[in-house]
Amino acid sequence: MKILKTLRLLGLVVFIASVLIFIGTLFIGGYALTEKTIETVFSSKTDYVTTTLKDVAKEKGILNKEMGNAFVFTNEIESLLENYNTQVTTAIAKEKGLSEEEINQIFKQSIQDDTVVYSKEILQNVFPNDAAKVKLVDEATNWMYVGTKKYEKAADFKNDFTSKISDINRNNAQEYLIYPNKYTKFDLVKASIVGPLQENNTLYLFLTFGLGIIGALMFILTGLFLEPIPGIKNNGIYLSEATNRGWVALFVFAFLVSFYILLYFYPFYIVNWTRIVDPLKGVFIKGASASQWFLYGILYCVSMIVMGVRMFIKYRHNAYQIVRTASVLFFQIIFAFLLVEILPLFDLPGVDLKNAWPLDYNFVTDWNVKQHLEAGHLGKFMLVWGVVLSLIVVPVMVYLYGKRWYCSWVCGCGGLAETLGDPYRQLSDKRLIAWKIERWTIYPILVFAVIMTLVVGYNTYNIVYNPSNVGDSTLFGINAYKINEIYGFLIGSIFAGVIGTGFYPILGNRSWCRFGCPLAAYMGIIQRFKSRFRITTNGGQCISCGNCSTYCEQGIDVRAYAQKGENIVRASCVGCGVCAAVCPRGVLKLENSTEKGRINPNEILLGNDLDLMDLVNQK
Ligand code: SF4
Ligand code: SF4
Repeated sequence: MKILKTLRLLGLVVFIASVLIFIGTLFIGGYALTEKTIETVFSSKTDYVTTTLKDVAKEKGILNKEMGNAFVFTNEIESLLENYNTQVTTAIAKEKGLSEEEINQIFKQSIQDDTVVYSKEILQNVFPNDAAKVKLVDEATNWMYVGTKKYEKAADFKNDFTSKISDINRNNAQEYLIYPNKYTKFDLVKASIVGPLQENNTLYLFLTFGLGIIGALMFILTGLFLEPIPGIKNNGIYLSEATNRGWVALFVFAFLVSFYILLYFYPFYIVNWTRIVDPLKGVFIKGASASQWFLYGILYCVSMIVMGVRMFIKYRHNAYQIVRTASVLFFQIIFAFLLVEILPLFDLPGVDLKNAWPLDYNFVTDWNVKQHLEAGHLGKFMLVWGVVLSLIVVPVMVYLYGKRWYCSWVCGCGGLAETLGDPYRQLSDKRLIAWKIERWTIYPILVFAVIMTLVVGYNTYNIVYNPSNVGDSTLFGINAYKINEIYGFLIGSIFAGVIGTGFYPILGNRSWCRFGCPLAAYMGIIQRFKSRFRITTNGGQCISCGNCSTYCEQGIDVRAYAQKGENIVRASCVGCGVCAAVCPRGVLKLENSTEKGRINPNEILLGNDLDLMDLVNQK
């Protein structure tokens, strides 16, 4: 017993050490931009781009200069790209567009005594031997003088003119510009890594992921021998700093939230972590560089597998929980990770085939549809499968088995919640107000998703089948790209990621599934009104211990139904089965049966529903 306890403690120490090393790797080594880095990252661009970029980097004094800090280095990269774009735009403007000097000449002739007299003749005066330039500028600016258009103030004319010329110059330079977005910065910073991580990433893979897995498994597996009698043991769960919002939980919360913010918005600061998993990426494509999404996929799978082992041990007496855990692991590893990596090797879109709309909110975007259509028959089949899955398979399966078939058996978000999130399930809010908030958030998000899909889908249809009707990509006055971007930011990143998982230690493991997921809302409506699923209660056996309500991750007050002997038919129930598993009296049973008698409200007066003294006085 003592050896087991020591091993368990050792496992914990090893796991904590691996987490600290993992965090520490962000600050190991340095970054140096070289000519080779530029050539590698921009290999698909023209020589002009790489040569100019190298020159600008030389001028700035950052070529071959090693920097030890990702923040400083990224700032330098940002300013390098800005300088490069300005330089390229100016150079191309001189050659094909309008230079500063030329603009000033036009202003000089167009503004006389503070009156604007701009016209095509002025352009012909300024460019007597360049008809093409006259045509180019006139086409973009003739609305400034035709008809009744008149400028009261010269400053207004200057503003309009400069803005149009900037557009012309930018359009001319388009093919040479480098957009300083997070992807470009990520590629540049990652390709610039120097030092131990660059040379020895396999060692760091072992020190972080390897030790983390070994330590966690030592901690979890020893529990099997320390508590040899099967049965759920949640002893002390409300006294632990890790599971009752104590300091350990706060540390995990801070780590998870920071991780998601970096992953979604600042991936260039975590390039060192992606470098660590490069050897694993190499298994799929030799020598390939791992993206932040590959890192996320590995972390996701590892967390689910390790915590899945914990689930197998904790619920080893419960067949439903064992099969359900095996199912979510299967779908995560095979569908959400391996197939996503393998399909592109066969020129097919690397998509998660079990991800149904509207959870997959990019399903109808033009780039996604085009990617499928360009991938031959199989690509088209995958597109049709996505439609069939969302519109036929999902509702039919919810009718037959309730939304548990997806939320607790297939879904990646549900899979993580049921494995990594299991220690936090008791933190869900059971108050009536939380139930109200839940309905006020999840259904509007479903409406938002439907509107976005209509707008984006209409735009995609025009792009693919009716290009002459693309226009400004709007429907009902809503721009397709804008609404997709807003939805992706607010719902896809902030709600599903940062809050959904980051807040596990604070709000419980299903806050996304309960308050935000539009697919859960869609399935919830079907489950509530047209399904064979219900949890039946044998009320006479209930001792009102409240275990079921405590461990319901969806915040359903299961006990209240059990006390009344009423079936639990709730839109939010994900059918995890934990309420039934923790019930010491076998009161609850998850069942699929005929719809008749499924909803059986049992009106029973409870103590706080009436004033007993009133009742006595009335008698
Ligand atoms: S009611 Fe039971 S099965 Fe449904 S979500 Fe809550 S714990 Fe899971
Ligand atoms: S866990 Fe079982 S006995 Fe306890 S309140 Fe719930 S239904 Fe009743």
